[in-house]
Amino acid sequence: MTKVFVTGGAGYIGSHVVKLLGEKGYDVLVYDNLSTGHEWAVLYGKLIKADLADKETLKKVFLEFKPEAVIHFAASIVVPESVKYPLKYYRNNVINTINLLEVMEECKVKKFIFSSSAAVYGIPKKIPIPETEPLNPINPYGETKATVERILRDLANSGSEFKYVSLRYFNVAGADPEGKIGFAYPKTTHLIIRALKTAKGEFDKLEIYGTDYPTPDGTCIRDYIHVTDLAEAHIIALEYLLDGGESDVLNCGYGRGFSVKEVISMVKKVTGIDFKVVEAPRRPGDPAILVADSSKIKEKLHWSPRYDDLEFIIKTAWHWEKNFNP
Ligand code: UDP
Repeated sequence: MTKVFVTGGAGYIGSHVVKLLGEKGYDVLVYDNLSTGHEWAVLYGKLIKADLADKETLKKVFLEFKPEAVIHFAASIVVPESVKYPLKYYRNNVINTINLLEVMEECKVKKFIFSSSAAVYGIPKKIPIPETEPLNPINPYGETKATVERILRDLANSGSEFKYVSLRYFNVAGADPEGKIGFAYPKTTHLIIRALKTAKGEFDKLEIYGTDYPTPDGTCIRDYIHVTDLAEAHIIALEYLLDGGESDVLNCGYGRGFSVKEVISMVKKVTGIDFKVVEAPRRPGDPAILVADSSKIKEKLHWSPRYDDLEFIIKTAWHWEKNFNP
């Protein structure tokens, strides 16, 4: 049984990856401080509640578990919070990742999968965005992801046997189609979850942040990808590295986009609830359009997503949201 060490495996994306790893017969150890994750979300393997800042515990767990590969989700991910508290973001996302990479080096673990983000592109010049676009983040969160990508590149070029795949996520949404896990962080800023919570009556209205963007209906366009398809991309990337694949950086999106207004219409259709929507000013730092050029991951890793369907994505998210009561 191949042993995989998963940081942040009790969180939203991490828990979906752990589910697939377990179903595919991997031996999983989740290392998570449970700051935003949940014990119930870890459906397979062992959960160690600990922090990446605690290098002593981290090393002890590594020496006992002896993983062959690491998948690293644990990070702070709220953009406005990163603007307000940059040091928290650099410490958690960069310094704690260095701790993890050092322990990997000390324990001779050489395969690494990293959760990166479309936020590394900032305001891209080309749409759809190829991986070759320069790293040009416009907020501290994106800076921390770009910084780790540079560290990984340098480590892979240092003459060590370290190999990594960095996956740049676009807008991850939806929930496990079997309904076992889903998004479970009440204070979210994400459009689909906020729209569903408004339909549920948790908020009295949904705000559209900006209707004067240079897009057909004036609202921002994003590439929404189902969390299970994204989880599958991690499994494929892991198998690629275990088979001796070279380091690489890959976009994870479907290569098409929906506007905020299109998403809201679909949420109303799926829920059957006509909730209140108001127009509001632009949110700082939002690029007008973020759509992935996803040809590289499809051609190189043969990733073939199953849920490229906004209605299905929102249906799974709604099913989860209705049944999830924090
Ligand atoms: N958005 C919105 N109202 C909300 C939440 C988000 O209009 O209550 C917009 C946001 O400005 C962006 C898009 O929806 O254009 C997607 O935002 P989200 O936070 O879901 O993801 P991001 O693209 O920022 O990672």
